[in-house]
Amino acid sequence: MDRSRCRTVQAFAIALSLFVLPALSCSPKWARPPVHPAPAGAARNVILFIGDGMGFAQVEAAGMFATGRPGTLSFETFPFRGSVRTGNADGEVTDSAAAATAMATGVKVGNGVISMALPGNGAPLGTALERFKASGKSTGLVTTTIITHATPAAFGAHEPSRNNYSGIADDYLNDSRPNVLLGGGGHPTAAAAAAAGYTVVVDRDGLQALEREPEVLVSGQFGYGDMPYESDGLGGLPHLSEMTLAALEILENDPDGFFLLVEGGRIDHACQANDIERAIGETIEFSRAVAVAVEWSDSHLDTLLVVTADHETGGMHILSNNGAGNLPSVAWGTTGHTSAPVPVFALGIDAEPVPGILENTDIFLLLMNLSTGSGIRSSGAGIP
Ligand SMILES: [Zn+2]
Repeated sequence: MDRSRCRTVQAFAIALSLFVLPALSCSPKWARPPVHPAPAGAARNVILFIGDGMGFAQVEAAGMFATGRPGTLSFETFPFRGSVRTGNADGEVTDSAAAATAMATGVKVGNGVISMALPGNGAPLGTALERFKASGKSTGLVTTTIITHATPAAFGAHEPSRNNYSGIADDYLNDSRPNVLLGGGGHPTAAAAAAAGYTVVVDRDGLQALEREPEVLVSGQFGYGDMPYESDGLGGLPHLSEMTLAALEILENDPDGFFLLVEGGRIDHACQANDIERAIGETIEFSRAVAVAVEWSDSHLDTLLVVTADHETGGMHILSNNGAGNLPSVAWGTTGHTSAPVPVFALGIDAEPVPGILENTDIFLLLMNLSTGSGIRSSGAGIP
């Protein structure tokens, strides 16, 4: 451990003992703070969590509902915290495709574009998932939307339009071939996935009965299209936290490590509908999924964990905290996306110097262990 890392850890431990532990004394189990720093050097495993549409207010509201206090979700005690600017290549309010492309490739593109240089020469832009795969790591995409939705697509496909679900599915099966594809079904079809060598599972029981082997290819086809909202009940389909654990148990068998993207994909949809109950349900389950990864990483210290969002949705403002188990009162500004900055939290990166505001393209640099414009450098990854 180098001295700056030591200082960071000491400062974090002091802050933790003064402020965080008392505040968490009656929090649910998953709200406990992480207890380990990641070691300096290359992280074997890199996990990116994206809450689609999850701005600062969405995080705050979910904490109020879960515990009666903001600041209590599983990732809010991570030592690295900052905010991210989300504008697209044209300086406009971003959609999920342009935002995910920025995080997946380090390049800003126009709305609707999946990891291609548009505007520009239209060339495919190499993604973090593809780079990690080329370095020998296993890879996985997990989401609560259909698996070909814009956010996972930007990591495993190259298409001029996010609406080209068939092309995105073909890119997954023929080119990027993530080991784990878990989310809503339909594209690719179960038959196409099976023909491409994937083991297909269609519900929670099937997912949990899977043999955890290295080099496995799994396509989880959970319903057709986007999965149900948490607050509506999932029936026999797995929760995001369960999909996350299954993905970790499969990918951890690769001695070279892995890259995993986990998306809470329907926070955005709930906020487009200005539906606070569903938005909070999705955000709390997203927090549970992060907690699963934090607990898993307690015994896999060589892991970099980054939690962020692609953009804010709904222009949400909190009017009042109505206590644990009660929906906070909120006001909405729009049914679309906004340009508001979004939060970023990380475990396993050097927290000095403390960031001001990152660009969404800096998320790619953090994942790849490349220095950002703000001088932030992860202590993990290590793929040039
Ligand atoms: Zn989005």
